Amino acid sequence: MTLVTEHLETAYPDADLSVWPASASSAPHGEVTVGGVALTEVAERFGTPAYVLDEGEVRDRCRAYRAAFPDGDVLYAAKAFMCRAMAHWVDEEGLGLDVCSAGELELAVVTGFPPERILLHGNAKSPEDLATALRLGVGRIVIDSTGEIARLAAHVPPGDRQKVLLRIVPGIAAGHHNAVRTGTDDQKFGLSLADGSAQHAIARVLEQPRLELVGLHCHLGSQISSVKPYLSAVRRLVGLLAAVRRQHGVTLPELDLGGGHAVAYRPGEAAMDLTTLSARIRAELAEGCAAAGLPVPRLTVEPGRAIVGPAGVALYHVLSVKRTGGQTFVAVDGGMSDNPRPALYGVRYAPRLIGRHSTEEPVLVTVVGRHCEAGDILASAVPLPADVRPGDLLAVPVAGAYHLSMASTYNLVGRPPVVAVHEGRARLLVRRESLADFRNRDIGL
Ligand SMILES: *Cc1c(COP(=O)(O)O)cnc(C)c1O
Repeated sequence: MTLVTEHLETAYPDADLSVWPASASSAPHGEVTVGGVALTEVAERFGTPAYVLDEGEVRDRCRAYRAAFPDGDVLYAAKAFMCRAMAHWVDEEGLGLDVCSAGELELAVVTGFPPERILLHGNAKSPEDLATALRLGVGRIVIDSTGEIARLAAHVPPGDRQKVLLRIVPGIAAGHHNAVRTGTDDQKFGLSLADGSAQHAIARVLEQPRLELVGLHCHLGSQISSVKPYLSAVRRLVGLLAAVRRQHGVTLPELDLGGGHAVAYRPGEAAMDLTTLSARIRAELAEGCAAAGLPVPRLTVEPGRAIVGPAGVALYHVLSVKRTGGQTFVAVDGGMSDNPRPALYGVRYAPRLIGRHSTEEPVLVTVVGRHCEAGDILASAVPLPADVRPGDLLAVPVAGAYHLSMASTYNLVGRPPVVAVHEGRARLLVRRESLADFRNRDIGL
């Protein structure tokens, strides 16, 4: 179905779409189009809640990363959001893939993603994860603990060699919330530089004939808007590369700095500037290596959120409006089952009314979900017209990352569909979860 929206393209000057996909445009009667498709039409055709993914925005973000790191590798972190179309777009745009389970890995490979461009990481890889990675021939496996070294080596068939990186904890605190700070010594990921476990693990891996140590890996955390922690990580890891050469006579050719680049969820919030990030990291790496007399290793980055977050928009219908305790609660037909981030990290969004122009003054409301938890809050202190009412359509921008990939079947509401919009067309990528899906899995009595 083609949705003709050309007549809607005159932008409304008062609408702040700064955190929306670049293709987003306001139109008369409170309409917003994304990828040339009116959101009210998406809601009508596919129902709500629904997730809209702007294919052009995903592809543009992939291209921006490729342009920013022309002589490095960009791996999309599949855990941010994954489906077959997403794997296909990322592949076509020349990115690699970062996965952390057999499930993410198999889905990518059955879609045709080249396994040699896939990296598997994770703090606790199951025997199935490792067996699947070796069977499918992933390019890199990131070793996360000392115990994993012999376990992985034992899985590698005689005569083969698996390329591996070691995940290093550089001892750097960065990220918007404790739950996503992974560069410090007091959390579960990686091998500490400070207590010597990183150095010990390097020696152990180098002793394994079935493992080929190609480099070091780190991932500082998520939603990091400053370049500084990355520069500190470069300095510490270059120091370690130099130590490896001194102690073992080995020059490791790769350095993976992970992801974590911030995006703005609400207008005015800080986002990572990709051009600055790439220029400063590459300069720091070049200088550090020159000073240590090391060749510059091939750089890898692993953005997840920054590729897909701003490309997604969540659509909900208002089910009820309740004024109580001095607050107005606007309850929608989704919530923490499709977006657990507010409950997990206290993050807040900027929903807006779509498809109706109200002349009422805005009032500050709390947008809540339909789930049986008082903490099921999508956004607080949101300005919405005073006449907001059941049946209204709300859109939440920057909904592409860590919503559906963390979605649950709580209350058996059913996970929403994913609709791609591109060049004036909408198409279903992932269908809505139905009662039949729940019944099919529930096989005992
Ligand atoms: C989660 C994760 C990423 C992606 O993080 P974003 O914040 O989405 O960019 C990259 N690498 C590793 C190892 C991760 O765990």
